[in-house]
Order: sequence, then C-alpha cells, then structure tokens
Amino acid sequence: MTTRLITTRQDRGQAIAKLEGQIKRIDANTYEVLSQSGNGTYEVLNTSIGWMCQCPDHVYRGVKCKHIHAVLISQAVRAEVAIRRIKPITSVTECIYCGSTDLKKDGLRKNKSGAIQKFKCRTCKRYFSFNIGFEKMKHNPQAVTTAMQLYFSGESLRNTQKSLRLLGVEVSHKTVFMWIRKYVKLMKAYANKIVPNVSDAWRADEIRFKVRGNMKYLFAVMDDETRYWIAQEVADRKHSHDCFNLFEQSKNLMGKQPRTIITDGLYSYAVAAEVVLDEAKHIRHVRLQGDVHNNKMERMNGEIRDREKTMRGLKTKNTEVFQGMQIYHNFIREHQALGKTPAEACGIQVEGKNKWLTLIQNASKS
Ligand SMILES: [Zn+2]
Ligand SMILES: [Zn+2]
Repeated sequence: MTTRLITTRQDRGQAIAKLEGQIKRIDANTYEVLSQSGNGTYEVLNTSIGWMCQCPDHVYRGVKCKHIHAVLISQAVRAEVAIRRIKPITSVTECIYCGSTDLKKDGLRKNKSGAIQKFKCRTCKRYFSFNIGFEKMKHNPQAVTTAMQLYFSGESLRNTQKSLRLLGVEVSHKTVFMWIRKYVKLMKAYANKIVPNVSDAWRADEIRFKVRGNMKYLFAVMDDETRYWIAQEVADRKHSHDCFNLFEQSKNLMGKQPRTIITDGLYSYAVAAEVVLDEAKHIRHVRLQGDVHNNKMERMNGEIRDREKTMRGLKTKNTEVFQGMQIYHNFIREHQALGKTPAEACGIQVEGKNKWLTLIQNASKS
C-alpha cells in the first residue's frame, strides 16, 4: 500500500515537472509550485532538515508530496543537459595553405622562449609551424598563458613581468599588457558565442572600486545557481546609471530571460527590469551583512579588490581587464562552493591542463 502511494506521488510529481510553468525557481533553495487544484501556489523549501512543502499532504502527513517530487525531478532534468566539451588542439592534420594531409614533421622552430614543431607540406612544398593562435608571436604559448594566469589571479603587471623573467622570458610590462588585451579580446568574442545553461534566477549587483582615486562601479549580472558571470558594465556613477544595456546584454547572451531577478533594490534595476526582463519577477533584496546575496557576490568582490590594487596606472576604459576577469571567473578558476568552474556548472567543459591555451586555440580556429 505504502509503496503504491509513494509511486503515485512520484508519478504526479513527474507529471507536474513535465508541464510548462508549473514550477518557479526563486533561488537554489526556494521554489513555488502551482497547486494542481487551482488554489494558488505552494512554497517548496530546501531546509536543514530536508525539503518542506506548505501543502496539506506534506504538512499533515509528513510525506514527500508531489510538489517536492516535482522540484527534485525538474532539478535532475537540468543536471542531465548535455555537456559541451572544448578540447585542446594537440596536433595538426592538414596544411594551413593547401589543406593537404600529406605532411612531414620538419624539426623544431626555436623562438625567444621555446620550441615549436615545424611541418613541411609534401603537396605544396611549403613550411609552417603548429602554433594555433600564436602565429606571429615572438614568444611561445606557455609564456603568454602564464602571464594571463598570473595577472588574472591578482598579480600586478610588474610582478607578472618579474615572474616571467624567472622563467627566462624577457618582456616589458607593456608587452605583457598588450598580450592580455589581444588574447582577452579574442577569447571574449569566442565566449560570447557559447550559450551556457544558466538557471532561471539571476542576480544583479554593483561593486565599487577605485582607479587613480576615482570611484567607479562595476555593474554585473550573475547566475544564482552556477555563479556564471553573465554580463557587466563599468559606470562612473551608481544611482544614475542606466541598467537597460546591462540587462539587454544579459538577455541576448543567454538567449533567454530569467524568471527571477534579484537585486539590492537600486532604483535603476527596477526601471530596467520592468522593461527588458518583463517576464521576470523582480525581488528587491536589501543587503544585510553576511546575507546570502552578499555571500554570492562576495568572491567577485574579492576578485575586483585584488585587481584594484594593481590597476593603478591603467585607464578604466580598458574593459579587457574586466572581460579577462570574467573569463578567469567563468572558465578557469574553480569555485570553492561548487567544486567546479561556473562554466562547468553550466555544462561547458574546457579541457586540457592549460585552459587558457585551449580557449585561445579554439577562439583562433572559430
Ligand atoms: Zn506539497
Ligand atoms: Zn600545402
């Protein structure tokens, strides 16, 4: 008897999960499920003692009701979405000039910081080296990607330059910055074409930072569940900043609207959300120290603060710095709470030991 009842509740939950618009995700631990008898909605909460629902079945019988089943099933469906793999390109199969596959390895080409495999095409008799994304660079991929890792994990340009010197790479800090701008631009254009599987609850927040004594604000939108950094914009002012473009960008890049947009209550978010994210419920979350909203944006705050110390001397309009931070945040650095990168949480797996290299190679080929 009991077994049959549980099966029935699970089946009903499955039926609810299959229908459009029955479950609304408020955040990772809060859902609203439409009452199937048409009497409003039930709140389904993930608490320290397990999932709770407001419906009579759960409240009076203490059972896992169909609403809880529906939420759990809808979560499982999201998790099953196919993973997109971005693989390193480790070998060359055809001539870059004529496309012939009749190639011969022709020793190594030495440059200032390492060696690169050279090839001779037996068909057109031309030589080329395997160096996707770094074709005209005097320095090898290792030097360039090491510089990016150092810089985006918080080192100053000068420290990055000094560390490179220890590896035998002699470049000025201006050259390092040139590399960063060039490759961030390339990777950003590539990243914009990838649509991550973000959740239906997004957060918008602004982070203060100073450049040469002037206060600036980074407005950012982040996915609540995966912490994927969706879009951003640098502004001179906080209260009078127009957030239309920020939300428009977010919607276009993700190819959808969220069902919930959580903000700190800044008026400009409300104005823009009402027009641009018109399908979303806007939740104004007044910030309290140590609260959830704050914690979720906290890491990004830390990333900006680290950067702030090293940004003196740079112009803020160097948006590549923020775009690079965004790439580092989404694709490179593992998020402690998630145990994976935000991109991985969204079904995008960048493979290879050197993820910078994998991204640059794929960005150059696309
Ligand atoms: Zn219920
Ligand atoms: Zn050829």
